[in-house]
Amino acid sequence: MSHITDLTLAEIRDGLKAKSFTSAETTKAYLDSIEKARGLNAYVLETPDRALAMAAKADARLAKGEAGPLEGVPLGIKDLFATEGVRTTACSHIIDNFVPTYESTVTSQLWRDGAVMLGKINNDEFAMGSSNETSAFGPVVSPWLPPNWSAEQGKEKLAAARAAGTAPNGFLVPGGSSGGSAAAVAARLCPGATGTDTGGSIRQPAAFTGIAGIKPTYGRCSRWGIVAFASSLDQAGPFAQTVRDCAIMLKSMAGHDPKDTTSMDLAVPDYEAAIGKSVKGKVIGIPKEYRVDGMSAEIDALWQKGIDWLRDAGAEIREISLPHTKYALPAYYIVAPAECSSNLARYDGVRYGERVAGREITELYENTRAAGFGDEVKRRILIGTYVLSAGYYDAYYVRAQKIRTLIKRDFELAYADGVDAILTPATPSPAFGIGEKAGADPVEMYLNDVFTVTVNMAGLPGIAVPAGLSNEGLPLGLQLIGRAFDEETLFTIGHAIEQAAGSLGKPQNWWA
Ligand code: GLN
Repeated sequence: MSHITDLTLAEIRDGLKAKSFTSAETTKAYLDSIEKARGLNAYVLETPDRALAMAAKADARLAKGEAGPLEGVPLGIKDLFATEGVRTTACSHIIDNFVPTYESTVTSQLWRDGAVMLGKINNDEFAMGSSNETSAFGPVVSPWLPPNWSAEQGKEKLAAARAAGTAPNGFLVPGGSSGGSAAAVAARLCPGATGTDTGGSIRQPAAFTGIAGIKPTYGRCSRWGIVAFASSLDQAGPFAQTVRDCAIMLKSMAGHDPKDTTSMDLAVPDYEAAIGKSVKGKVIGIPKEYRVDGMSAEIDALWQKGIDWLRDAGAEIREISLPHTKYALPAYYIVAPAECSSNLARYDGVRYGERVAGREITELYENTRAAGFGDEVKRRILIGTYVLSAGYYDAYYVRAQKIRTLIKRDFELAYADGVDAILTPATPSPAFGIGEKAGADPVEMYLNDVFTVTVNMAGLPGIAVPAGLSNEGLPLGLQLIGRAFDEETLFTIGHAIEQAAGSLGKPQNWWA
């Protein structure tokens, strides 16, 4: 048998049921890998005692034949999900001592189904970012080395940066905001991890690290107990090595929750049953507006390959138009900061977390928020407050909302015309270097989300599937966008792409 941590989530699930190994063995194998990979900074809190206790209970249920769908399967949890009795920080200083007295609905459903928590995972502060560099715990290092670096060089440079306490500049970012989740799955530090996606935070890091990730339809998963960024855009979703694994995890994560009035009261299908179905006759839309200026030849070529694979599998390829695409990014960077400024008003030094005293209450607020939030979060709060202020509200916020409606309508018209899913690249480039885009111009970073934000603005499901390697050998992903609440079609077509693309391989274990 290959090493347990090389298996997919489905293989682990099946191996546990078949009693080929125990949850305790599996959990220990991952805890051991996590310890050796501390240099990657993927986990911000390891919870080994809890993990082993959960694994022991899972093993007892497996022995009695009372296994849940994820019985004994270890997972990593993005630190945006509240976990009862376990520190939850959103990777911000302002709540870095917060220990919730409640469990998020999504994670409680994972535990209900038998999963085991390995620990809490790094992310951009309050999920704002595309590179995991805004985390108060420091950046996550991608397990994929920059082109032409040997394993030996990677190991030495990381050890040197860690010893000197300097930023691991030059290493690759895993993407963001769920960068730790993506890195952890890609480095085999868990077979699956939770993420959240407000503008691309599941799909972009999945693409950068050569794994699969799905943002379900808005309303598919409960947002209850997830630290809020932009409430009308935020959705939880899974990361895993394969599309099948994502289908298995989403089944447990999804479902109606009376505690979140935006979660839909719809039955959750058996997503795994969608894997392996034929794509024959499916209509795949190719939106011409996604052929953006300056798109690199390799991304274009990857997209074309995806089109060819699906055509060869019997799908009908149809060029479509989503004419308001070019307004999506600017509109997103008004709507998301507006909601962020409102949501983050609660971190005032009175009710939660860090408090920095002042002579009077306003000064206490100011001192607390100045010390507690990082630069990117402050930038978002300032933009959001500005676009919501009297005098600018109509000019910015209301216009952005109107654009949002038009973007949504573009998709509705395409689907009304018989399109089953839309195929696009997941990102405009492969992963970039730590420090490379975190400089003076934040728009550089925002451009990463050009293919993903439309999906959140329209509330639709989107999946990123590993589809190839760049000329320099870095992972690239394709994105499929589906009809509302039709994640099944994305799993079917995503699996077909994954099969056609074949394995991208995995990063060498240079960090251990
Ligand atoms: N990168 C985008 C942003 O910074 C999206 C983040 C996310 O989806 N949470 O807002």
